Amino acid sequence: MSQFLREPVSSLPGLGGIKAALLQSELGIVTVGDLLQHYPYRYVDKTLIRPIREVLTHPDTALVQGVLSPFQSHGHGHKKRLVAYLRDETGTLELIWFKGGKVIEGILHPGQAYTAYGKIQRFRGKATLVHPEMELVRTAATPRDLTFDPIYSTTEGLSKKGLDTKGIRKFQRALISRITPGLVPENIPQHLLDTLRLPGRAEAIRHIHFPPSQKALEDARKRLKFEELLFLQLDLLLSKKHRNRELIGYVFEAVGEHFNRFYSEFLPFELTEAQKRVMREIRRDLGLGSQMNRLLQGDVGSGKTVVALMAMLIALDNGYQSCLVAPTEILAQQHYQSVKDLVKGMGIQVGILTGSVTGQARKLTLQYLAEGKLHFLIGTHAVLEDPVVFQQLGLAITDEQHRFGVAQRAALWKKSKPHPPHVLVMTATPIPRTLALTIYGDLDVSIIDELPPGRKPVKTELWYENKRLRLIGFMKEQIAAGRQVYIVYPLIEESASLDLLNLEEGLASLQREFQRPQYQISVVHGRMPSADKEMEMQRFLARETQIMVATTVIEVGVNIPNASVMVIENAERFGLSQLHQLRGRVGRGADQSYCILMTSGRLSEDARVRLQTMCRTNNGFEIADVDLKLRGPGDLEGTRQSGVQGLKIADLREDGAILQSARTVAAKILDADEHLEFPAHQCLKRHLRETRPHDRSWSRIS
Ligand code: ADP
Ligand code: MG
Repeated sequence: MSQFLREPVSSLPGLGGIKAALLQSELGIVTVGDLLQHYPYRYVDKTLIRPIREVLTHPDTALVQGVLSPFQSHGHGHKKRLVAYLRDETGTLELIWFKGGKVIEGILHPGQAYTAYGKIQRFRGKATLVHPEMELVRTAATPRDLTFDPIYSTTEGLSKKGLDTKGIRKFQRALISRITPGLVPENIPQHLLDTLRLPGRAEAIRHIHFPPSQKALEDARKRLKFEELLFLQLDLLLSKKHRNRELIGYVFEAVGEHFNRFYSEFLPFELTEAQKRVMREIRRDLGLGSQMNRLLQGDVGSGKTVVALMAMLIALDNGYQSCLVAPTEILAQQHYQSVKDLVKGMGIQVGILTGSVTGQARKLTLQYLAEGKLHFLIGTHAVLEDPVVFQQLGLAITDEQHRFGVAQRAALWKKSKPHPPHVLVMTATPIPRTLALTIYGDLDVSIIDELPPGRKPVKTELWYENKRLRLIGFMKEQIAAGRQVYIVYPLIEESASLDLLNLEEGLASLQREFQRPQYQISVVHGRMPSADKEMEMQRFLARETQIMVATTVIEVGVNIPNASVMVIENAERFGLSQLHQLRGRVGRGADQSYCILMTSGRLSEDARVRLQTMCRTNNGFEIADVDLKLRGPGDLEGTRQSGVQGLKIADLREDGAILQSARTVAAKILDADEHLEFPAHQCLKRHLRETRPHDRSWSRIS
């Protein structure tokens, strides 16, 4: 490479010693390349300088230019402030600094022309710029100085050493002036740049820092985002190819007696097309001879459990055990029940292992497991513990993996010798496929994008406290019609006792409205012994109770088709995917179901978007998209490994189209030329080698 990009910043004139050290410690900038990748986060468009008079009457974010007046000090103590005025031909604007007055007086010179940028605020009835960004207007301004000025993020420490946005800009300008295509070699094949109409690398870097026009800026951004995502995708696809070559897995050749018998005699419904497609994908994986690592995404209620079961039957037909791990005791119990019911009469031994399985029961379960007498083991994290030994584990399935850490996944791997088990990870947090492939980099992705027939979309409404009476009436109507109702209270991590209070207060008032013996209420919360939880769930399932009062322990997976109303108290306190999960508990039967989001307080902007989204759509993909926009991809499980965190310019929330195109291009390149041997691909290979020198999959491709 370019030696140039790898030079330490300390080699640049004026950036030695302390400044270089600070750049490293505060911003992680070590090399010239790092500095060039410290892209501006915003630009001041100097073509948009406005007359001061206009700014005074239309307060907004303003960029003005004028001559600075002498400074005045006003007020005392904490009210002390520094005031000056900026004057152009049309008017005068007040500038105020509440802090750092001394420094400001030292660096700004009255009588000189400045541009000032900031948000106009009303201060004592007057339009004022508070803490404006000021910049001296150079008389010998080049045209570039009059267009876009880059604004860089920086820190207080760096600013003190002169590396505020202007300081950084100065160094960037000096660097940019030296850039030639020779110093910054192109890393994307020219024919791709041509077809995608993207600028070259050197030009893009120049323009991202000092764009001569809006169009040039957009092109530069697009190019750099594409570049970043292309290499991320190449990297992901290569490590996947590498893994497929390296990670030998058990071969499940036979789709045998158990599977076929279940399919023709026991399966209580016709599989949806999506379920069939996913089954084919899984069957194919299991027969390939390399280890399966597949993510199964499917909206709540899309029928993932039966797919899991059928995969387990294939394992059984090939002489292997399977386990299914759920995040909560309740869910594990429920899976256990439904799996046992589904295979009843087939002679399959199903065991359960959770924290509450103790004593002799536990001992026997472990013993049978080790002897191979148990075919399926269903449980919680307890399954991952050391004393749990399988005779021959061939398939491990985790449900609702957003509660599953990476370490736990690793623990699963160790349960099988000589090869790791095939892994199927199920989640009800659907996100677009390309994004899933990127975020869960090492997984293949299957999607169930269809609900079983006959489901009616859940009707969702946002109700304020003034509808409390109506809510009670509505619940009574539904119960009279034979339905059941969930009422969920939020769980505040910091204050479990407050939660309980919440729930208990709610419960008390419910008990006044819904009295025994006509009405029975179940209660489930996180601090109950799990045997009690289980009993309460069973009572609700058996319709002995009509109302289930709970904290979010019922969030995932629980399946009670007769329940048709989900009331969520303090709905604004729940995250979007949680709300969607909760709503997924109803709408599972043939009846019309309802989700009522109760809220009392004033809603924050985010909360309003969340609740409105819930009312607008039942589509998990749409909801996941909004969630992603609100929270960013960093919150999704698995992102830490994926390289997504290191993105400098691409934003997965917004750049879906570019991501898709990068994925397609990367796949095409590697399909044609897996080892990147074509002359046109040498630039890609060089860049990958240089930027990912430690990557295992890379070191092999010589
Ligand atoms: P989830 O994907 O949320 O885990 P489940 O596996 O719990 O969904 O399935 C939800 C309900 O739908 C269950 O009662 C299940 O028996 C039922 N179900 C699954 N697949 C089908 C199908 N193809 N046709 C009809 N009902 C189905
Ligand atoms: Mg489920």
